[in-house]
Amino acid sequence: MRAILLGAPGAGKGTHAVGISNHYDIPHISTGDLFRENVGNNTPLGQEAKTYMDKGELVPDELVIRLVEDRLSRPDVENGFLLDGFPRTIPQAEALWEMCEKNDMQLDAAIDLEAPYELIEKRIVGRRSCPECGKIYNIYFQPPKEEGICDVDGCKLVQRADDNEETVKTRFQVYQEETEPLIDYYKEKGILRSFDSTKPIEEVQEEVFEAFDK
Ligand code: AMP
Repeated sequence: MRAILLGAPGAGKGTHAVGISNHYDIPHISTGDLFRENVGNNTPLGQEAKTYMDKGELVPDELVIRLVEDRLSRPDVENGFLLDGFPRTIPQAEALWEMCEKNDMQLDAAIDLEAPYELIEKRIVGRRSCPECGKIYNIYFQPPKEEGICDVDGCKLVQRADDNEETVKTRFQVYQEETEPLIDYYKEKGILRSFDSTKPIEEVQEEVFEAFDK
């Protein structure tokens, strides 16, 4: 399966990406994670991306497209991929469509996760993750057994630099202006599937599998 995950920040893309990529045995490619990796390693790309990420703004299209083009040229995407957080603008979506056509690949699904702003805000501000195993928690909805500590490996949980009340509003506004138009874009392409992401994780996951297992 070749799919992309659509949805506002905090709609559950990262959470569902893990289950979906395991179920279909395809690599989970998160542009946000790739940028954070570059920021952590202080690469020139990371330094440039950080100036936008810290403000909750989008990194310019050319940089993101180049990053994805490079990632999709690796052999592990031969049997499919799940893109999380890309595309986020119409030019990115058009670039991805062209990349796929050029490589004789077809995009099968745009999985749209829907959630209202009030929920998204709490999900983002309360989000914590394990730097070691990547497990995502939420201090309001899904706290770890021991405060601030990962249930799986006992590591100290961390909060993303851009997961705060100041940037959440900007990120949501950017989503509405730049990314929401992709819903119509993929509807027209005939591959959009929307899911109610206010439901419990397992329920949404089951609905996704039911839709694509056939
Ligand atoms: P995410 O982890 O997907 O929420 O991404 C974190 C940040 O990385 C975003 O707020 C953007 O600054 C940047 N970013 C990730 N993916 C993209 C993209 N497709 N286009 C532009 N910026 C992106």
